[in-house]
Amino acid sequence: MEKSAYKELKETLLTKKKNGYDLISQEELSAMETYCTGYKAFLNAGKTERLCVREAIRLAEAAGYQPYTRGMALKTGDKVYVCNRGKALMLAQIGQKPLSEGVQLTAAHIDSPRLDLKPNPLYEDSELAYFKTHYYGGIRKYQWVTLPLALYGVIVMKDGRKMEVNIGGEAGDPRLVITDLLPHLGAAQNKKPLSEAIPGETLNLLLGSRPIGGEDESGRVKLAVMQLLNEKYGITEDDFNSAELEAVPAVDACDIGLDRSLIGAYGHDDRVCAYAALKALLDMEQVPQKTAMCILADKEEIGSDGVTGMQSAAFDAFMEDLCAAQNVPLRACFEKSFCLSADVTAAFDPNYPDVFEKRNESYLNYGIGLCKYTGARGKSGASDADAETVAYVRRLFDDAGVIWQISELGKVDAGGGGTVAMYMANRNINTLDAGVPVLSMHAPFETVSKLDCYETYKGMKAVFQAEQ
Ligand code: MN
Ligand code: MN
Repeated sequence: MEKSAYKELKETLLTKKKNGYDLISQEELSAMETYCTGYKAFLNAGKTERLCVREAIRLAEAAGYQPYTRGMALKTGDKVYVCNRGKALMLAQIGQKPLSEGVQLTAAHIDSPRLDLKPNPLYEDSELAYFKTHYYGGIRKYQWVTLPLALYGVIVMKDGRKMEVNIGGEAGDPRLVITDLLPHLGAAQNKKPLSEAIPGETLNLLLGSRPIGGEDESGRVKLAVMQLLNEKYGITEDDFNSAELEAVPAVDACDIGLDRSLIGAYGHDDRVCAYAALKALLDMEQVPQKTAMCILADKEEIGSDGVTGMQSAAFDAFMEDLCAAQNVPLRACFEKSFCLSADVTAAFDPNYPDVFEKRNESYLNYGIGLCKYTGARGKSGASDADAETVAYVRRLFDDAGVIWQISELGKVDAGGGGTVAMYMANRNINTLDAGVPVLSMHAPFETVSKLDCYETYKGMKAVFQAEQ
């Protein structure tokens, strides 16, 4: 075979994987930087699901979105949202086609792994005051010690008044910390497996050390801390019983790398997809053909259960309300709908090649990562999109010039994961997983590539703008 014929055959028949930087245009590079600046600001404003919802509503209202109330008359082009208990958000722009043609959905989550306070958190030991925590989501416990932490959340009083807590969130604020053993005395701890070296019950937040009252009294540091909290929030110790307080890294998002091509932050999983979906919806220049919807869900990291999770009927209720306004049965709308389940995937990490299958991994700078299925132990817990749905997204993305890749999460036997895709698919909605590849997923400080963030935003736009 001639050399040129061979080359032609190879180019025609074989997949060409390309680094996104060899594909992206100069104009897009500057749009990417602008987009990522907005994303970093979104991360800094929303370190918990409640703060994330608040920031998303602020952005949505600035783009003309209004709160939806049941029975509201809606016409083509209208922009509405429903906030579910301050912790999840559903937005819709009514399309030109009726809901009987289905909706174009994106579903991302805005909860991230963290340390929640227990219901009776405050105690004193050895004249130091602490909060007990209970970790939320799949954390590697050893990563959460000796870090500056901030505490956010709400304390709800019996009369319904809500105290908003923010300790360590502002510049100049004191921070909290969880201490770790010094290496000099770590010999026994060093021998334990990583998963056991830091027991959950040692993840206690250090709050203070300065006693009040006379030296014959006991519990003086705890009382001093309680006095400070009372002065600031008007609470007593009992009020912790009805509180949601979350300790998160007190670290803002920043560029990573000498070339500034990456972003390091707490909570990329899954605010990186949530922001892409939200921003794509808010940036729509024309009324979409089909109704475009963005769902920002809570509770994904602990199974999507509960009233604010993706399994909650809150989603069906909103959909039913929208459908009722057009006299369309909900089931007829669902079966014609498409959902991009937008969640992060693992990026190949050259430091740990053993857990990855190189031919089927997502790589930094190769664009938004599609996952036909997630799951573990033989695809358990995956919705496993059909080939028709994957083909549909391939076409959408290629037509819109989106840089994308398709992969799995690690080697078959290495583990696995899951997300909200199956809960959408269970509703008879064609669903495919896609999202940004992340390094150090679930760590207090995760890393993503700017190019992948931007391509994910373009992917979301392509979903909303789809005509079919
Ligand atoms: Mn996730
Ligand atoms: Mn996660």
